[in-house]
Amino acid sequence: MFDTLQDRLSDVFKGLRSKGRLTEADIDATMREIRIALLEADVNLSVVKGFISAVKERCLGLELSKALNPTQQIIKIVDDELVGILGGETRNVRFSKRPPTVIMLAGLQGAGKTTLAGKLASWLREQKHAPLLVAADLQRPNAVGQLQIVGERAGVHVFAPQPGNGVGDPVQVARDSIEHARRRLYDVVIVDTAGRLGVDAELMQQAADIKEAVNPDEVLFVVDAMIGQDAVNTARAFNEGIGFDGVVLTKLDGDARGGAALSIARVIGKPIMFASNGEGLKDFDVFHPDRMASRILGMGDVLTLIEQAEKTFDADQSRAAAEKLMGKNKFGLQDFLSQMQQLRKMGPLSKILGMLPGAGQFKGAIDDIDEREIDRIEAIINSMTLKERDDVSILNGSRRSRIAKGAGVQVSDVNQLVNRFVEARKMMEKMASSMGGMGGGVPAG
Ligand code: GDP
Repeated sequence: MFDTLQDRLSDVFKGLRSKGRLTEADIDATMREIRIALLEADVNLSVVKGFISAVKERCLGLELSKALNPTQQIIKIVDDELVGILGGETRNVRFSKRPPTVIMLAGLQGAGKTTLAGKLASWLREQKHAPLLVAADLQRPNAVGQLQIVGERAGVHVFAPQPGNGVGDPVQVARDSIEHARRRLYDVVIVDTAGRLGVDAELMQQAADIKEAVNPDEVLFVVDAMIGQDAVNTARAFNEGIGFDGVVLTKLDGDARGGAALSIARVIGKPIMFASNGEGLKDFDVFHPDRMASRILGMGDVLTLIEQAEKTFDADQSRAAAEKLMGKNKFGLQDFLSQMQQLRKMGPLSKILGMLPGAGQFKGAIDDIDEREIDRIEAIINSMTLKERDDVSILNGSRRSRIAKGAGVQVSDVNQLVNRFVEARKMMEKMASSMGGMGGGVPAG
């Protein structure tokens, strides 16, 4: 899900990346493209309008940050606003001070409530809770049986009506389950309620009656993310009919556009609390608006990285280095050393690299980074005179052996560093000239 949205947005940003400075016309064009991308992904029209105007206003009022170039700043604004649409802060379950905590699930038939009940129970067990599942869906044939299977899979008990005892009255079953939980020391009760194929008055009344009977701490509205704008309409109907506290999006593993589901938090004003992305018990997670936004923008944790860079990097120094790469002065080992030292101030290299988009593919290699190797490189450069650092071409045999001795390494280590540096510089120069500028807001040309 969200693949098309991701692709479209990443194209928009790619187009921007080659520009060093953005005009108002650039910003307008970018907003138009983002708007189309959101609408194509089925994001609710009113949400799109609000989003675009907020982003645009902030873009026009941009103060040029020294550490970020304009494109990075726009990406950051888009990300901030996207997090806002998705509900802002991560919203955790509010556990009752007087157990049991009661969680009631509501939603249309087929939304994934019963499946979710099992996932939620299994997740709660991992958090050292003792959950009880309650079968208050007595409408659908075999709904009780299905919940029992789910409960077995999750290793959680199911409270279901006994034959001849309150059969057919889900409100009574729900009420009894709370008493049962209290006596048997279950600390969380998850009540699965009946859904219908469409919203109807009888269904709403039943859900409202159950709600009144069990006085839930959380009413979760469960919705299939693949049903498009109906997700928003159904959410509105349930919110008006019974009221709910949070949303659970299911079937995020589907290939639909999903933007409608992402609009619910903003339209209804209720947070998305969990997301389900498959039929297995583990295909489920707490919903983090910030992580979802980064995922949609296809950026790994690159925003954290940008924030850290902003805090750590000396913008003037970065600019000087970038200008050197662009040929105004030659980039030397001294520049390399100071860049590396700045980078290391942000934390261990493996952690920094791990935050880059696509880092997951290289996890093994990143974990293998040996910080001692980097210490060795620093030691070698430190053993050089400033003149040598500036111009490696003067490094003859006797200089190299003196440096090796000073750094406590072999001459071959010095040779390897110098060769790699010369190669890397060639590549960076090529990149710098094709990009027209690097980081630090250095204008193109
Ligand atoms: P309920 O009527 O709301 O209780 O819905 P169910 O829990 O019975 O789910 C309806 C169907 O959707 C079942 O076939 C589930 O296996 C499936 N389902 C539920 N959640 C997900 C999900 O996150 N991804 C996928 N692919 N299927 C799901």
